[in-house]
Amino acid sequence: MTAIWWLRRDLRLADNLTLARALENGLVLPVFILDPLLLSGTPSRRQDFLWTNLEKLDQDLRQLGSYLVVRKGKPVEVLTDLLEETGADRIYAEEDFTPYDRLRSVLVGGCLPLKLVQGQLGVHPLAAMKSNGEPYTVYTPFKRNWLAVKPELPGIPEPDEIPTIPDIPTEQIPSGRIESLFPPGEKAAQDRLEDFLANGIGQYHETRDRMDLDGTSRLSPYLHFGVLGLRTALRRAGEQLASLNDTRGAEVWLSELIWREFYIHILYHFPHVRTQNFRPQYDQLPWRNNEEEFDAWKEGRTGYPIVDAAMRQLKSTGWMHNRARMITASFLVKDLLIDWRWGESWFMENLLDADLAANNGGWQWVAGTGTDAAPYFRIFNPILQSKKYDPKGDYIRRWVPELSGLDERSIHAPWEKGVQAAGYPDPIVDHKQARERTLLAYQSTREQ
Ligand code: FAD
Repeated sequence: MTAIWWLRRDLRLADNLTLARALENGLVLPVFILDPLLLSGTPSRRQDFLWTNLEKLDQDLRQLGSYLVVRKGKPVEVLTDLLEETGADRIYAEEDFTPYDRLRSVLVGGCLPLKLVQGQLGVHPLAAMKSNGEPYTVYTPFKRNWLAVKPELPGIPEPDEIPTIPDIPTEQIPSGRIESLFPPGEKAAQDRLEDFLANGIGQYHETRDRMDLDGTSRLSPYLHFGVLGLRTALRRAGEQLASLNDTRGAEVWLSELIWREFYIHILYHFPHVRTQNFRPQYDQLPWRNNEEEFDAWKEGRTGYPIVDAAMRQLKSTGWMHNRARMITASFLVKDLLIDWRWGESWFMENLLDADLAANNGGWQWVAGTGTDAAPYFRIFNPILQSKKYDPKGDYIRRWVPELSGLDERSIHAPWEKGVQAAGYPDPIVDHKQARERTLLAYQSTREQ
């Protein structure tokens, strides 16, 4: 018997329940489909990350006697052809929960023998419901339930071999530029996880908000493509909780992984959040949507050093620190009064880890329009955030060279100390005034 293993966002061999199920059949043909509909919405930098990871996966498969078949086209058509060419009688794929993946699974499953395997999350979105049968919309009870369910997350070792059908024609994996910060492949992701568990997780509760330190795992691009399984990370975090004396860091890290799962559940149950506010009372917010200010934000020249440092980190590395994401998003929405959807799509274009569920959840949280969102009147003060989470200004100096000569007293808000740095702009907005303007806008919308 032969099975097709249709890889989508589970680009790994270890801890892969879908692969394990497919192998129970005998021969397994690993297939990745270049789906034009998906690729047209994927910016080239993220495509490169995908190509280089597929290339590594192909090398890893070859070590196990197999190889990756890559085909371009609509999934139904490609898979129909492959079933015919190989005589395979079923297709295995990891269940994915984004609206488009659900749609294409329905289309394929409607006419071909597709078996979806839930290997992505701790708990399936339909299995985590409140006692009244409704989905959770608040994180804390969601997490409490998740911990009570204690999902089983057995470790599945990489197979010793993957018996396959030889010589099935494949297209070439497109070549891509390697990201220096995120080297491709399952081994790189596993090493990073183990390094973080050995050296980072113990202090995570203290260092995770510091933008000047490497206090977080930087696993998000790998988790997005399933180069590292979320279930692997969840299990390893649980093991740390059981073995460490001081579990504070591990507890917070596990909570962050559960946030990821929470937003995936939200998008599953409320797919309209993709384009609309979760809270319709904010639908009439009078956004200013000033294009010049939006450009200044994108290019890191708002005159607020911490915002500019973060936006330049994003442009340069394809990644941004979580605290920096919160500060820049708050600045766009609440200081500039620009629609969160504009910022969301800029992040989608530029982040290697861009993830519809987490990104949308993050933006709606900051805008106050989301499920378990920050209250509308919580408006980050970018200068105080900067002083607190980049105390010496090292993060700013790293990404905004125009300010590299400033000391820690003036670097967070040079204009307050009467300092001018050559080539660096004045603030495009006065935070205090902008704050008042935004509070009025939100209040008037709520009262309508
Ligand atoms: P760690 O701190 O090491 O956390 C481990 C993992 O937990 C992360 O890799 C991520 O998978 C998950 N995680 C951590 N925090 C969150 C969170 N708040 N929400 C959901 N999952 C979380 N994350 C993305 O993966 N893709 C996105 O597109 C994305 N967009 C965001 C946009 C905004 C406006 C905000 C405020 C947050 C966004 N996040 C997004 C969440 C978070 O910023 C990143 O997951 C995190 O910075 C990744 O770095 P790390 O791997 O070092 O995280």
